[in-house]
Amino acid sequence: MEKQNKKKLSPMMEHYHNIKKNYKDTILLYRLGDFYECFEEDALIVSEALDIVLTGRNCGLDEKAPMCGVPAHALDSYLARLVQKGFKVAICEQTARGDGTKLFEREVLRVVTPGTVIEETILNSNSNNYLACVYVDEKTKKSGSIAYVDISTGEFFCLDISGDNLVQKLNDELVRINPAEIICNYAGKIVGSSLAITSAGVVVGFDKIEEWYFDELNATNKIVECFNLASIHGLDLAQSDNNIRTCGAILQYLKQTQKRDLSHLKLPKVINLTNYMYLDSATLRNLELTARMRDGKVKGSLLDVIDYTKTSMGARRLKGAIIQPLQDEIEINKRLDSVQELFNSNIHRLTLSGLLSNVADLERMCSKIVYKTISPKECLELYESLKILPQIKDILCKCQSDGLKSINNEIDDLSAIEKLIFDIISPNPPATTKDGGYIKTGYNEALDRYRDLKDNSSEKIKKLQEVEIEETGIKTLKIKYNKVFGYFIEIPSSMVEKVPVRYIRKQTISNSERYITEELKQLEEDILNAQEKSHLLEAEIYSYLINQLLNNVAYLQKCSQAIAELDMYISFAVASDKNNYTRPQISSKEHNLIIKECRHPVVEQLLFGTPFVCNDVNLNDTDERIMIITGPNMAGKSTYMREIALSVIMAHIGCFVPAKSARIPIMDRIFTRVGASDDLSFGQSTFMVEMVEVANILNNATNKSLIVLDEVGRGTATYDGLSIAWSIMEYLSTTLKAKTLFATHYFELTELEGMLDGVKNYRVSVKEINDTIVFLRKIVKGPANKSFGIQVASLAGVPKVVTSKAKEILKKLEAKQNLSLQEVENTQIINVVKEDDKYKDIIEEIKEISPENITPIMALQILSDLVQKVNDKE
Ligand code: ATP
Repeated sequence: MEKQNKKKLSPMMEHYHNIKKNYKDTILLYRLGDFYECFEEDALIVSEALDIVLTGRNCGLDEKAPMCGVPAHALDSYLARLVQKGFKVAICEQTARGDGTKLFEREVLRVVTPGTVIEETILNSNSNNYLACVYVDEKTKKSGSIAYVDISTGEFFCLDISGDNLVQKLNDELVRINPAEIICNYAGKIVGSSLAITSAGVVVGFDKIEEWYFDELNATNKIVECFNLASIHGLDLAQSDNNIRTCGAILQYLKQTQKRDLSHLKLPKVINLTNYMYLDSATLRNLELTARMRDGKVKGSLLDVIDYTKTSMGARRLKGAIIQPLQDEIEINKRLDSVQELFNSNIHRLTLSGLLSNVADLERMCSKIVYKTISPKECLELYESLKILPQIKDILCKCQSDGLKSINNEIDDLSAIEKLIFDIISPNPPATTKDGGYIKTGYNEALDRYRDLKDNSSEKIKKLQEVEIEETGIKTLKIKYNKVFGYFIEIPSSMVEKVPVRYIRKQTISNSERYITEELKQLEEDILNAQEKSHLLEAEIYSYLINQLLNNVAYLQKCSQAIAELDMYISFAVASDKNNYTRPQISSKEHNLIIKECRHPVVEQLLFGTPFVCNDVNLNDTDERIMIITGPNMAGKSTYMREIALSVIMAHIGCFVPAKSARIPIMDRIFTRVGASDDLSFGQSTFMVEMVEVANILNNATNKSLIVLDEVGRGTATYDGLSIAWSIMEYLSTTLKAKTLFATHYFELTELEGMLDGVKNYRVSVKEINDTIVFLRKIVKGPANKSFGIQVASLAGVPKVVTSKAKEILKKLEAKQNLSLQEVENTQIINVVKEDDKYKDIIEEIKEISPENITPIMALQILSDLVQKVNDKE
């Protein structure tokens, strides 16, 4: 042991430790030749996480250091797996060649974290990958901010979340943002840790970073430095200290991890929550806007049925728009006008759609340009996309709607960089720049010469040989090559008198002499260096191209945003055409919500052959504000309520709606309370979740909100639940006056019509045939009178013995409503005793039989008599 302590770490391990101490919470991938190696603790973690072999490396001490590694050429795939598991990974590269005695110099060039990924293999092309930064004021715990950035696209946002319900707002916004990584200050972690964000089934933890990142002065300086500003005055974000803190902190974090200027980051856009319809986290999930509740998949969500986008930028834009419906009627109608124009013109819609399908992800290409990781092939893709822009503009020029006109104005003339790429990049470039061959022949004379030398060296030598023969008159002169001298001229000994003086003798062999000349040595050097020189020159030219692209990043970003917007409008138009949607009339002056023949956009596509039954809704501000909807299970109550909520959202994002006609007021929020589920990760029981959602609704809804309540109070004792539901209805009717759709199995609540202002009863109609029911799915006026729960259980395949017994119990419960279950059970016993009385004489007869005294024939006869007697009594 003592001996070991005296031993010193090897220089390489010491170097490793020096670097690792700055990246304690990070996996350090240390470049060693063709591998990235992990040592010690990191090696243990990585070998388990990636299921790769753990070995050991001599580190100077007695015991080897645990080690595992991944090949450098396959870094991306291993990186993807580590980042997807939530690790932060520091990539330490060899930055300078050693001189044989010294170690390679190494430096961490980038730390990849889940929220700072730019690798295509890790990113989902249709979703943003946000890094979110949360700040909560330590003293009050009542004010804070969230900043979020997607470095793969350059988008950057922030919002102040001060005021009441900080925790709720924080949670709602983070569910909407759906970040891949959350960094925060200490107070942010305290407030946030109780939440743990579930986004598409993923729980993202809050990672506390150093407090000084959030210091207002530091943060301000960071913003100024990053965006090259004189000051932050004049920026929207400067109006909130909290926003300054989060934006500055996130930039600091990016500097620490990305270690480069991120010139493609846009100035943070301040999100003003009043500009958007507020959808809380429960509503986002319940309405399955972008993902199914059950499994987090897109299939079966609203996004799935209206997404006909052709570009990744458009797909991301659409996803963002669905969860941020607009509030400004002018903006909404501007979108609707554009969609209408594309809807009306098949030719424009189809042509634009076709053109867009060939446009690459320009937005993410910008980040590759900034990171200088764009490949020659991708440059060509960029060129191909830029070539399409004028064709898109040609069509947009002919459009009348303001939305399409302004998209046209946003697409700049990028023909200069289009031409540059065309001139520089060869038409069929290799996948990487490693082996050269990606710069077009004809672009640079020197490069062409090097290539010519490299590719035609034997030709050149042959030519020189011919020249020398001609000049010397020695027909047997030969230019040869060996490893010792390189190229040389060989002349038979008999001809040496003819050798010119410029020949330098190098060697005498048996029958000949060997020479070199200045010209031959120059040619030899050119040939031998041609490869390296052409590689260097290609890299130089490529770097020039990238710098030119860098200068155009802002234009490219503007253009990609316009393309994304256009793609979204076309998607709405295509979906409206394919799915038979109608343009809604939407206005802030409208007070009534009137939709005729409304359909559920998702359910209607899943029915396979069965027609979807359309229904109307007609809610106003006076006598019909609250619909109490009753009807059997499975009748279609939830579907009806959701189709209305979804139509309202679709109208607010500028899409047509699944209905024959729709008049929709501007609604500030949609609240939903649907189904019952435990949220164990949040430490809440079913009923608690239900009540938290209800509390949120009652505390925040206004008379401009739409509330969807699918059962309230079912998670507790009947009378408690009923009382809560009743009182909620009263509050909605007298105080909030929000438009409300309330489905319930509490028939007692139907008595509220007439008692409370604006409450009206509706039911989903069914037809009863014998002992079973047929769902008609039509919403009609008036309350339901029966639940049909047991019939639905039968339809679901619950065993007959159970449903028969349930019917029996139901009859007794209905007959003796005030009895306890024990009393019901006793009723059963009394009945059984009475049944026994009926068969008393037969029982007595059976008791008198002595089996030991009768023959089998007699036994059969007695049995047959008994059966007959029982049948007589039935
Ligand atoms: P529960 O009270 O048990 O929650 P529910 O009344 O809310 O039931 P839904 O979940 O809305 O019933 O509907 C059940 C199924 O009925 C849907 O999944 C769909 O397949 C079908 N359905 C609902 N409404 C319609 C309709 N208007 N047209 C055709 N099919 C419908």
